[in-house]
Amino acid sequence: MSRVERSDRVRAQVVLRPLGHTGRVRIESGPLAERIADAADTYLDMDPDDVLHGFRTAAGRAAPGAPLTGWSAVTSEPTFGQWVSGLARLGVTAGVTAASERAIELVDGFAETVGPDGDVRMSLYGYEKLICGLVDTFTLAGHEPALALLERTVPWADRTFDRARPTPSAHDFAGGRIGPTSHARTLEWYTLAENLHRAWLAGADERVGEFAREWHYDAYWDRFLTEPQPGRAWPVPTWLHAYSHLNTFASAAAAYEATGEDRYLEIVRNAHTYFTTTQTFATGGYGPSEFTLPEDGALGRSLEWRTDSAEIVCGSWAAFKVSTALLTYTGEARYGDWVEQLVYSGIGAVTPVRPGGRTPYYQDYRLGVATKLPHWDDWPCCSGTYLQCVSELPNFLYYAADDGLAVLLYVPSTVSWEHDGREFGLTLQTSYPRTDDARLTLRGSGHLALRLRVPSWSDGFAAAVNGEPVPAVAKEGDWLVIDRDWRDGDVIDVTIGAGLRVLPVDARHPNRVAFAHGPVVLAQKADWTMPISLPTPWEMVDLDQAFEPGEGVRYTPSGVGTARLPLGDLRPLSEIAERTPYRVYFDLDDPRIV
Ligand SMILES: [Zn+2]
Repeated sequence: MSRVERSDRVRAQVVLRPLGHTGRVRIESGPLAERIADAADTYLDMDPDDVLHGFRTAAGRAAPGAPLTGWSAVTSEPTFGQWVSGLARLGVTAGVTAASERAIELVDGFAETVGPDGDVRMSLYGYEKLICGLVDTFTLAGHEPALALLERTVPWADRTFDRARPTPSAHDFAGGRIGPTSHARTLEWYTLAENLHRAWLAGADERVGEFAREWHYDAYWDRFLTEPQPGRAWPVPTWLHAYSHLNTFASAAAAYEATGEDRYLEIVRNAHTYFTTTQTFATGGYGPSEFTLPEDGALGRSLEWRTDSAEIVCGSWAAFKVSTALLTYTGEARYGDWVEQLVYSGIGAVTPVRPGGRTPYYQDYRLGVATKLPHWDDWPCCSGTYLQCVSELPNFLYYAADDGLAVLLYVPSTVSWEHDGREFGLTLQTSYPRTDDARLTLRGSGHLALRLRVPSWSDGFAAAVNGEPVPAVAKEGDWLVIDRDWRDGDVIDVTIGAGLRVLPVDARHPNRVAFAHGPVVLAQKADWTMPISLPTPWEMVDLDQAFEPGEGVRYTPSGVGTARLPLGDLRPLSEIAERTPYRVYFDLDDPRIV
């Protein structure tokens, strides 16, 4: 079967194209590079026979190896597709050839277990992820049989999945009726459209595209067609499953890509505004106890007793997809802010998935004392999205525009790309956020516009080309554009403008705050320390007097604790080890000891 070119089917206007999937971006050093290398080791360490064991057993085939544990004890259905997806991505974004090969090996091994009628023996929850893995193995690992298998399963899914599709509500927050054995069950059905659309865009047959449109979640999406009047709450239902109710907007974004209908883009834009302004903590995480919340101070109140403040790994993944789509289709720099927040303080602040399936899941922001613990079950949902998030990191850094290149994140890295028929390259050197500067060295000569993202929190962003300050005004939340003739070896020095920030959790709790340095949320170690307090309103406090900055990203408060409980300093949440008590939120006006 001949495949149409992907670009032939995209109906949306593409403003910026992320370059990570071209295989020409590399993160060279630093914590993100270490996280990628660690994830490659951990997931390649999994024995494919173990991963496939449950599927082979269910299909009545010889099943060497041993069953996995936890969520994958019966089959690895809950995350199989995401592991495959992450491996296929890692092969391209980090150049790990063994990961591409493993994705193909797993897809081929799985294909042998699929019934002649396309029966994959999965509920919709696992099937949605399987489709993602198959699309990625086709588009990124170039494995044609993955798309052929996908097409073979769609008629089975069409016949099998229940079309009742209950609209989620407070007492059925993920919209699924869970039967004990039925593959018809449709938990999180409103996330299925995304990867079916992606499959169609990648060249799958028309039936796949038609099936994608059947799973649109118009009842919820349409509530986001307009923003509320200033000062009014969003007229949308709450107490819904938070991660999947952001993830569903990745389906709306895919619907936009496939149809070009502006309404979908408007819905995704407004959903982004809704989540970032009413649902998120300072880290970019959201959904205490996995719920979306009303705008009545519930977010701030949750800090008093919930330990499951944010499903941070899956939550990061959904936010990355929605933000990347908005960057692609609007070209607006401000959509990089949530990405950066989560890269440093969401997924970037968790303990990695360990061999054997110990997995980070919830981040804990409780007042008093919080801890980092792995999930109680091995191989949960977040073991799938962890690999996807980490494998996708290189894809967040650089975007190609018709007139040049956009730099979204300041990470030690290299990129090469073609512009106007000429080859260009860029090397970015930085120790940010430990220091506040970055140096970009250009390879290639010619005219192009270089866009540098000015974070919305930046104070004093500046750039210089070969030592000459760039006169353009840097507006926060926008691009600084340097449009000029470039010569091979030109050097751009950037000052990013990160500093200490105080971030109230919500409007009802103006003194319940987290501290951050740029996108890096800070934590105080809570083993024998006093919580930090400040006079209120804290806006009147001179932060330069209240905190002494130290080496790296450290702030020492100048107040007093008690003899037994001194004030501990603030450091990146990412530097807090598992099981070490810490605090990220403080009641500034209530410095209580017990
Ligand atoms: Zn999860």
